[in-house]
Amino acid sequence: MQKMKNQHDLTVNDGCVNLKNEEMIILSLIKLKGVSKFYYNKNSIASGFNKINLELNMGEFVVITGESGSGKSTLLNVISGLDSYEEGEMYINGEETSHYTEQDYELYRRKYIGNIFQHFNLVNSYTVYQNIELVLLFNGYTKKDAKGKINEIIKTVGLTKYKNTKVSKLSGGQKQRVAIARALAKDTPIIVADEPTGNLDIASAKTVMKLLHDISINKLVVIVTHNYEQVEPYATRKISMSDGKIVEDKIIKKSESLGVVEGTYKSISFRNKVRLGIRNVFNIKVKFLLLFFVYLFLTIAMFSEYSSIKKQNFDQDEMGYNYYFNDTRPERIILNKKDKKEFDESDFKTINSINLIKDIFKDDLFLDTQFSIYKDETYFYGTAKTIRDIKSVDEGRMPENDKEVVLGVYGDNFSYKQAKDTLFEKKFNIENSMSGKKIDYPMSICGVKYLESRDNYYSDEVILYVPESFFEKARIDVNASFSIMELTLNNHILSTNKNISFQLKPNDKVKSGEAIIFQDLNSYCNNYYCNNTNMNLKVSNIYYEESLNLKIKSYTTKENFRSLTGLSNYDDNVWTIFISNEDYLRLFDKPTYQISVFVKDTKDLDDAIAMLESKGYNTLSIKKTLANNFGEFIGVIRIIRNLVFIVATIALFFIVYFIIKIILKSRNIYYSTIRILGSTKQQAKTLLNIELLFDANIAYIVFLGLILIVKKGLIDIDYIKDMVVYFKYYDYILLYLILSIMSLLISNRYAHKLFKNSVMHTYREEV
Ligand code: ADP
Ligand code: MG
Repeated sequence: MQKMKNQHDLTVNDGCVNLKNEEMIILSLIKLKGVSKFYYNKNSIASGFNKINLELNMGEFVVITGESGSGKSTLLNVISGLDSYEEGEMYINGEETSHYTEQDYELYRRKYIGNIFQHFNLVNSYTVYQNIELVLLFNGYTKKDAKGKINEIIKTVGLTKYKNTKVSKLSGGQKQRVAIARALAKDTPIIVADEPTGNLDIASAKTVMKLLHDISINKLVVIVTHNYEQVEPYATRKISMSDGKIVEDKIIKKSESLGVVEGTYKSISFRNKVRLGIRNVFNIKVKFLLLFFVYLFLTIAMFSEYSSIKKQNFDQDEMGYNYYFNDTRPERIILNKKDKKEFDESDFKTINSINLIKDIFKDDLFLDTQFSIYKDETYFYGTAKTIRDIKSVDEGRMPENDKEVVLGVYGDNFSYKQAKDTLFEKKFNIENSMSGKKIDYPMSICGVKYLESRDNYYSDEVILYVPESFFEKARIDVNASFSIMELTLNNHILSTNKNISFQLKPNDKVKSGEAIIFQDLNSYCNNYYCNNTNMNLKVSNIYYEESLNLKIKSYTTKENFRSLTGLSNYDDNVWTIFISNEDYLRLFDKPTYQISVFVKDTKDLDDAIAMLESKGYNTLSIKKTLANNFGEFIGVIRIIRNLVFIVATIALFFIVYFIIKIILKSRNIYYSTIRILGSTKQQAKTLLNIELLFDANIAYIVFLGLILIVKKGLIDIDYIKDMVVYFKYYDYILLYLILSIMSLLISNRYAHKLFKNSVMHTYREEV
């Protein structure tokens, strides 16, 4: 563009330059030197015109005549910058144009050329007013500024009555007057008219020609017509063409030579682009509806594809097995407090107020702890639950004191069938089956509850319904069995997690602050003798850490075992450290540091977790640990699933692109027309982007409306209902983004194909 500017500096206001010899030379506005135009078709080359020499100046009214096919239209198109030429040189305002880029031609058309065609090239779905407004908006007018000018112009061409009539409803003569009005609004120094009266009756033709003359005083007018008589009164020059050549070029009247006044030009504002884009959305109803349904289809297709992936991933998380947790119901979330403190009543209140949560399990530990209960040949094992969970029993009776429990059995429990008859007469022992430690809580079974069978239970498995006092007692033991113990002895660090294995037991005979160790531990002390050595015992588990400083009092041997401990079974205690009851309680009698809650519906898991986190709790979702357990395997499946999603999305893109391409074919003329009017490729592309994006947005809003209706239960479509539950608000945002990006890709791809050729080329393909 720099070049054109320089040129203007040279031609200043009057189109003349001062040469050294003081002679005034008038530069032609348009000059052709041996210019030829060829049409390249598949297997032939046709000549449009051949080696034309021509100079055209401001103030001229040039009439071109000649038989059909002689190259008149081709010549006008080349002059208008709508088509390329293949040979020779063309000068615009003294500047050679062979180096012109597409953008240079765009600017040239904007600043210099007003076109009028035999077939009008109006936007048929716009009103008269809108057709004229279109040019002005592209010339950077505001809607408000344009208004006065448009009304004035409409008056000039005598169409005030039809201002708000759609152009498609006008007669040919009226249409051509709109086209003239449009050229007038564009206000360029050159008006190019290709058989403007070719489709009009004689009376209309006369009016149009007169009008054309009236608006073109002090401009360069180049007009092609078959009917020379009609223009004779106005013509200053007559050119005849035949077979692609100029055969006659005659001055009829002397025209005044005038300086060039370029059309003024400002770029269309973004606001007006949006305005036009939106106008185009609704402008042709059928097209709008077709695009709308295509986008709605696209949205729903993407939605089902996306939500089915979510569903699959979700289901996959639910199946799984976890080594650390015994109770692997996916609804379970384990909580502790961010400040590491114990849970109190106010915590339970807070958590209860979250209505996504169904249950709080204060004795979280017991969810994952298995117990065995046994006597003689009868043996059961399973988990303990609070007696409050049941209201009645199916056999026997409900407990009457703290030492009675209810046994929950599944239908075909073998041990139960065996023991049935003597069950209620026995005092059972109970043991933590993980630590193997007997819990000092003798109990009897007073009732049996039949449990609904579920998947994956072991045939001997039971649920033990116990009183609160059992939990109190067992908690100490469970804390102990879940803890890692670490001894610091004579600079050695010995951990049950790494390099040593031992048990810790309370013993009545041991004094507080003291410990009785086992023989082998002596190897860590000087001279293999630990007595009177101080040792630190630290216990740690996922909830807390506690430590004690202990003085080693002595060590057990087969001989002294009974006298030291008061116990008889040495063989079971070869690797036992005994401490006082008091110290034992200090280590393990701890309040609740961790609880479990259960959500009503696993679909709300993320929301519940977010709420809990925000209220000061750390969370661990069982469902998520299950998923992680499969690690890489699930990873691979997910990658494949995502690939399938991507491939399907791409396929969908091309299907939709193909359909939209067909729908948009009817819009090609519109986009060619606005380019003829002076829109750049870029601007036309923006309009198309806005148009499609807006349509996509409407489809998306309607889609959201449908979802809302389904969610509210106003329509009952199970299929959609099922998918909606897996969709979170961010999924809707993501879906929206994917849709918008697809829409932009579609319009860009389409625009690229549409605009890659010269305007006339595109236009010809469509007409
Ligand atoms: P006129 O406007 O004088 O009737 P045109 O400029 O339309 O003539 O055509 C000039 C010549 O170029 C004709 O021989 C015509 O066949 C040829 N021509 C015009 N347009 C094309 C085209 N798109 N492809 C091939 N040849 C064309
Ligand atoms: Mg023609």
